[in-house]
Amino acid sequence: MADGIQPQPGIMDIALYKGGESHLDGVSNVLKLSSNENPLGPSDAAREAIARASHDLHRYPPTDHTKLRTAIAEVWGVDAERVFCGVGSGDVLKLLAEAYAGPGDEVVFTEHGFSMYPIYAHACGATPVVVAENERVVDVDAILAACTDKTKLVFIANPANPTGTMIGSAEVARLAAGLPAQALLVLDGAYAEFVDGFDAGKALVEARQNVFMSRTFSKIYGLGGMRVGWGYGPQTIIDVLNRIRGPFNLSTVALAAAEAAVRDTAHTEKCRVENAKWRDWLANALAELGVPSDTSTANFILARFADEAEATACDNHLRDNGIIVRRVAGYGLPHCLRITIGDESACRRVAHAIAQFKGAK
Ligand SMILES: *Cc1c(COP(=O)(O)O)cnc(C)c1O
Repeated sequence: MADGIQPQPGIMDIALYKGGESHLDGVSNVLKLSSNENPLGPSDAAREAIARASHDLHRYPPTDHTKLRTAIAEVWGVDAERVFCGVGSGDVLKLLAEAYAGPGDEVVFTEHGFSMYPIYAHACGATPVVVAENERVVDVDAILAACTDKTKLVFIANPANPTGTMIGSAEVARLAAGLPAQALLVLDGAYAEFVDGFDAGKALVEARQNVFMSRTFSKIYGLGGMRVGWGYGPQTIIDVLNRIRGPFNLSTVALAAAEAAVRDTAHTEKCRVENAKWRDWLANALAELGVPSDTSTANFILARFADEAEATACDNHLRDNGIIVRRVAGYGLPHCLRITIGDESACRRVAHAIAQFKGAK
């Protein structure tokens, strides 16, 4: 490439995102528990909507997402005018960074925060600021202490990935109230639907002007392959995001699938209940084997081993048995493995393999 052609500052500081692996050489019957995917898949209504939408693909999709925003508003009790839809919630978060941060600005997140946050910061030329957590839990005081007059965005996932922990509404409200005037609090609610009755920050968005909530169809709705997410925030911010998104960012198929999925509240509830049941079962089974985890509020657990060597050895044993979980050394957690909650047989299979590993040592 010509020397003179250079990307924007920050872009070459980005380490490529590594998705969860899905193949093991020479192994059939691979069990993938590395990307927090829903083992039950999407609702049947979503599958049917996808099939129907396939007849309209010569037409451009609508640009205003009205039907999807209306469905989200009815199901989650939010104002449809302030719902923004993106190509996965990652797209929504990236657009926020592009719109509100640039060179010289700071983007704050925590030490075990989602690995996309530094990528969004670097991509817009802003400076990532990493704040310590307190025993794998977001520390509001530490975040407030790290904020300066350059802070533009504060990203926290609640529940958090990969720790699975969360902070209470009073703590989130204290964080929002304590931020400098030019900083926006972004509550990433990718796992919010796994928490019974949780509003994911909706009331705080409505009470304040400096809070934005993002949500996704990739996790409990089982539509990670479809790429749909949404956000809820002050009208001024929604107006900004609508100016910079692609006009046809969501395909006809994606819009139809998401609308049907969000309206199928019975399926969502079934997924939440099944996840909670097998998550607690797996956490207990591993704890009895001497592998503790923090109480998870999401669809995975963060299993803690004695040290990095033991986590690596267990990961190798799981791979030998066709099971892929997530190494989280890149999240500053080299002694941990993040294990997605699969269905009953998946949970039994991974627990059995870890019991073998512990017994064999
Ligand atoms: C999975 C995940 C997302 C969702 O990404 P999509 O782009 O919506 O698929 C967002 N934030 C966190 C913390 C996640 O784990």
